Amino acid sequence: MANNGGEEAFWQKQISSAIERSLCQGHFEAFFDFHENIEEFSFCMVDVIDEVKKQIAVFFPPLPLKVGIVNWVQFQSWVKYGLGDGVEDLCDTWGEYGKMAIKQCSECREASIFNPPEEN
Ligand SMILES: [Zn+2]
Repeated sequence: MANNGGEEAFWQKQISSAIERSLCQGHFEAFFDFHENIEEFSFCMVDVIDEVKKQIAVFFPPLPLKVGIVNWVQFQSWVKYGLGDGVEDLCDTWGEYGKMAIKQCSECREASIFNPPEEN
């Protein structure tokens, strides 16, 4: 268990910051099921199979990428089909919330879109 703290912290930071920068502040703060479960989710991520780690890193990508509507839709299907090696039980409402926020809130919509830097 010696090194698990590092990996757990890594997942918590990557997933939290990806979601935080992809929603407006109000919807991020009100994302109860996320705040409630992210700690346990990150803890469980340490022991899942590599396929799940790869997939989670795609759904909740590192900077400067965003968690867009497509991520949430695909994440929701992934959860629904039980592909999460058990961790899907901790995040089964996240996709619905992310989709709802982006559909209903223009600030979330704006925050969820990745704008590649313009090339000079
Ligand atoms: Zn919002």
